[in-house]
Amino acid sequence: AAKDQGSGTWRVFDQTMDQRARWVLSLGNDLSDAIESDSLELHYQPVIDLGTGRIRSVEALTRWRHDRRGYVEPEEFVSVAEDTGLITPLDTWVIHRASRDGARLFASGTLPPNGHVAVNLSVQDIADPEFGAVLVEAVAEGAPDFGMDRLMIELTETVLMNDVERTAARLRELTALGVRIAIDDFGTGYSSLAYLRPFPTTTLKIDQTFVGGIASNASDLAIVRSVVELAHAIGLETVAEGVETTGQLELLREMGCDAGQGFLWGPAVAVDGLIAGFTPSGSLPSGL
Ligand code: C2E
Ligand code: MG
Ligand code: MG
Ligand code: MG
Repeated sequence: AAKDQGSGTWRVFDQTMDQRARWVLSLGNDLSDAIESDSLELHYQPVIDLGTGRIRSVEALTRWRHDRRGYVEPEEFVSVAEDTGLITPLDTWVIHRASRDGARLFASGTLPPNGHVAVNLSVQDIADPEFGAVLVEAVAEGAPDFGMDRLMIELTETVLMNDVERTAARLRELTALGVRIAIDDFGTGYSSLAYLRPFPTTTLKIDQTFVGGIASNASDLAIVRSVVELAHAIGLETVAEGVETTGQLELLREMGCDAGQGFLWGPAVAVDGLIAGFTPSGSLPSGL
């Protein structure tokens, strides 16, 4: 019986692998088409200065509404893109679109002159020695006069730890162009500020799993408070991700966190909606 169970398990395992492979290929094909036909959407979530209550930057987040499949979660298509060689084409499209839309956000005064447009990048983008040139070209095509110092890239700790020497060198090439670098989802990876030393980063984004707990969980509060303190001690600005309640906002203000992002102010929306000062939740604070 044990043997039967064993082989049964293997059959299921094989089938699962096969299904996953086919699904990746099929979704990858559709994603490739969507990139080529320019049918993805880029939405922007405001990042709010906790001192002034005003918008200081936006994070670009890709949205894919598929004809047959419906809404596909970014976590899904980003992982498929990473497995099918499509992540750099996807992120190049994002940079192109973000600089074009970003130019409108600055021109309309939605973003302050010293603000930023942030894009998420993956490990393969940074591993590509040509990526700096690709990025410059994408910005130039999107908005010729969009300064590179208005672009921020977000990388997770996992991306940084992939090959520390090479990654640090790549990132210095990017910062030499003026691009800013933020550490995304801080706290979910290596979670040591000491590891960040070799990287030319300016901004630490504290993951929403910790931020979500600060009003109800003493250790989450202690973690976020000490991350903010340590980050400031080494000259990094801090952004709290996933802020959903005024209780969380008050605690973040009190501990001196620089900025916040989350459903309290609104989800990512299309560029026209952001310029019009509208979000589906209608929950924009007066400071915006
Ligand atoms: P991320 O960079 O950490 O982005 C923040 C995620 O948190 C977004 O999910 C956003 O919609 C969500 N979020 C924002 N505020 C709140 C809140 O108050 N509560 C909760 N529960 N969630 C909130 P989204 O858009 O589903 O994206 C998921 C991840 O997919 C992103 O995490 C990012 O790592 C990745 N991603 C999205 N677009 C791109 C892209 O164009 N390229 C790459 N390489 N990755 C992308
Ligand atoms: Mg991000
Ligand atoms: Mg994040
Ligand atoms: Mg994330």
